[in-house]
Amino acid sequence: MPQDGCANRLKGQVAIITGSSSGIGKAVAIQMAAEGASVVVNYPGGSPSGAEETIAGINAEGGKGIVIKADVSNEDEVKAMFAKTIETYGTVDILVNNAGLQKDAALVDMTLAQWKFVIDVNLTGQFLCAREAVKEFLRRGVVPERSRAAGKIICMSSVHEVIPWAGHCNYAASKGGVMLLMKSMAQELAPKKIRVNSIGPGAIKTPINTAAWDTPEALKELLKLIPYERVGEPIDIGRAAVWLASDESDYVTGTTLFVDGGMTLYPGFATGG
Ligand code: NAD
Repeated sequence: MPQDGCANRLKGQVAIITGSSSGIGKAVAIQMAAEGASVVVNYPGGSPSGAEETIAGINAEGGKGIVIKADVSNEDEVKAMFAKTIETYGTVDILVNNAGLQKDAALVDMTLAQWKFVIDVNLTGQFLCAREAVKEFLRRGVVPERSRAAGKIICMSSVHEVIPWAGHCNYAASKGGVMLLMKSMAQELAPKKIRVNSIGPGAIKTPINTAAWDTPEALKELLKLIPYERVGEPIDIGRAAVWLASDESDYVTGTTLFVDGGMTLYPGFATGG
């Protein structure tokens, strides 16, 4: 997958990528491994085949990684994932809070279970993983040979941290929450030399949104929302994540990098308004 010239920008560092058995997380894991990081491929349970595919992709790039099963919304499992990572690789330098899901329903039909499930995984899961990562970043501090920062956290948000989304109130609320979780953590942790940023993907071709692009009719409708007139690929996010994790972005903290082909540019106003 990583076709572009990798420059070992994450050499010697350790990265945990949650939900990396498919889609965006898989691409981020492979891209970070290709840049020299040792990668933890996390999946929540069920078949490990997706996680194993990610490891195969990492190995094909000459990289290394391990698989750890953990549900990011489960405090004990998150703690165990960090303990296992530190036991294996000695420390953690990078956390990519990527795991996320949708349980869509109109507001009046949305059950409390659907609401809680999405908030627990997409928002509480990011808090639980960030807290464990920060404990380790603070313990270790800055080691200049590894990175100018004591640690880097990348939150996988969405264009829906700013674009309202009818029929997806739980999802949009979770990503709006991620935005201020990210900014508050960034403000709190900057003096400790910990950088926290988000990526806001637009429409990226992954299993989460197949219905939005896999027929010509759906694709035509989707492209109306994307000024750059192409649907994103997971590698688009992988490249952005590597940059945000590397020292190339050492002065960047508390920001959302939208990788969305212009979806957040109110495309309806190009001709209307
Ligand atoms: P995906 O369904 O391929 O990946 C989501 C991953 O999260 C899966 O591997 C899944 O196993 C994992 N996961 C779900 N619940 C988990 C849990 N409790 N613990 C650990 N892992 C869990 O979809 P994707 O598009 O790759 O989504 C990745 C992230 O990107 C999500 O946070 C999603 O909200 C965000 N995002 C995606 C798009 C897009 O267009 N694809 C757009 C904006 C934001």
